[in-house]
Amino acid sequence: MMKDADKIKSPLDRQLLAWYRRNQRCLPWRKTNDPYRIWISEIMLQQTQVDTVIPYYHRFLKAFPTVSSLAHAPLQNVLKVWENLGYYSRARNMHAAARMIVEKFDGRIPDNLEVIQTLPGVGLYTAGAILSIAYGQAIPAVDGNVRRILCRLFAIRKPVDDTREQKQLQKLATSLIPVKHPGDFNQALMDLGATICKAKNPDCARCPIARHCQARLHDLQNVLPIIRKAPAIPHRQAAAAVIRNSKGMLLVVQRPTSGLLASLWKLPGGFIKSGENTENSLRHSVKEELAISIRQGKHLVSVNHTYTHFRITLQAYECRLLKGTPKPLGCQNWRWASLTDLKKLPLSKIDRMILVETK
Ligand code: SF4
Repeated sequence: MMKDADKIKSPLDRQLLAWYRRNQRCLPWRKTNDPYRIWISEIMLQQTQVDTVIPYYHRFLKAFPTVSSLAHAPLQNVLKVWENLGYYSRARNMHAAARMIVEKFDGRIPDNLEVIQTLPGVGLYTAGAILSIAYGQAIPAVDGNVRRILCRLFAIRKPVDDTREQKQLQKLATSLIPVKHPGDFNQALMDLGATICKAKNPDCARCPIARHCQARLHDLQNVLPIIRKAPAIPHRQAAAAVIRNSKGMLLVVQRPTSGLLASLWKLPGGFIKSGENTENSLRHSVKEELAISIRQGKHLVSVNHTYTHFRITLQAYECRLLKGTPKPLGCQNWRWASLTDLKKLPLSKIDRMILVETK
């Protein structure tokens, strides 16, 4: 495979870069070499479509134009700007990384492959993207799209989600990356994967590197890459309590500093164990969270959502506070919130959906 890579390296590089210069997507983070802006775009683009990212990218930079402004902002403000973009650990990691950059690296994003990966949330892919695009270093940025292209280009028939195979693909990408314009080369592969060598029905007739492609030669482009069947994700049930005080304000809690949707705000409640009665479960989870007793009233709404590792159905019930003053036992904080307050608090999509339905 490496021999094949050596043979095609030079024409592949030339043809891909020529195609990229004519066809590159016009994206806001391509108008800059600022490592901070490249870093933000790369983190936002993880698991998220380009069209979704663009408005968030502008909004985020308006709120936090420099690494120092991000480092000095309260985490709650960062989570609020990130609200609905999902995978909130990305925002928490960026905030922690910005602090580290300011405290340890004099406010400059490191330009060394090992060092940059000590930043929270920066793995090999993101490191490669920042170092090649912002600092011009010949380091590949290998994500799912690039792996797919490599598997097709070299007709690799091993499962692409196998860790050993991924290491091989990283080596293969390293052997292909040119010393000149490595950032453009990586971005050309990103664009090729997004617009031509797509997961389904690759458009080989328009592909600038088709003449080197073994999958096309052997009519395997719709078979490769080999992906092992992912196990079905579990479906979990949860219940939330909608509790209002005499002024109509809503009782909300801030999630713990780690775990699912860490530090975001939500309605009191939690997961229902299999076989457990919803009413008992809700009472217990609210007691464990806030040390208060409640009475469950009528069912208000039910919403569904899918996370990476499970699906959830969350049922919201009108509830009454029977006994006790809330204390943050199983949460970071709690408060009574008006509608205006709720707009300012960072909430996850599913909690926002419940609030919209129960207004
Ligand atoms: S020829 Fe087809 S399968 Fe091969 S890299 Fe191009 S688009 Fe992908």
